[in-house]
Amino acid sequence: MRKTGAFEESADGVVCDCCGKTTHIFYTNPFFSVEDIAYLCPECIASGEAARKYDGSFQDDFSVDDGVDDPEKLDELIHRTPGYSGWQQEYWRAHCGDYCAYLGYVGARELRALGVLEEVLDDPMWDEEQKEMIRESVNGGHLQCYLFRCLHCGKHLVWMDFD
Ligand SMILES: [Zn+2]
Ligand SMILES: [Zn+2]
Repeated sequence: MRKTGAFEESADGVVCDCCGKTTHIFYTNPFFSVEDIAYLCPECIASGEAARKYDGSFQDDFSVDDGVDDPEKLDELIHRTPGYSGWQQEYWRAHCGDYCAYLGYVGARELRALGVLEEVLDDPMWDEEQKEMIRESVNGGHLQCYLFRCLHCGKHLVWMDFD
């Protein structure tokens, strides 16, 4: 099973590679950089220091939805926003001209429980075959859905991939 959140907790604490301080909450999801980074604290991610120091990013800037014109928003997404860990290349959804908030791992059952299954299927991203796959997806299964929510209108969107 993969981790469900971007951060993990350590009772003993770990040392952030970036600032050298002991942190009890540390980042565990993708960080793309030349150097191999073990631990990052939330502060070094939010401030952009980790991305700056290691010339790294938390999201591939080609694997994002079109439709966001503001380069500052892309900068915030790839340099100051914790990423998530997918089976394959992580992809970030956008809506209303801005990148969405990532909410977590879901399958059809979770989408139904949240009452957003029909909402995520109402999306030009997916053809009929893909919609059927989303309807049959199981959280933690071979076909994983990743839930996003628009920061502006509140619409839910998913990304999905396979193991
Ligand atoms: Zn730090
Ligand atoms: Zn929207």
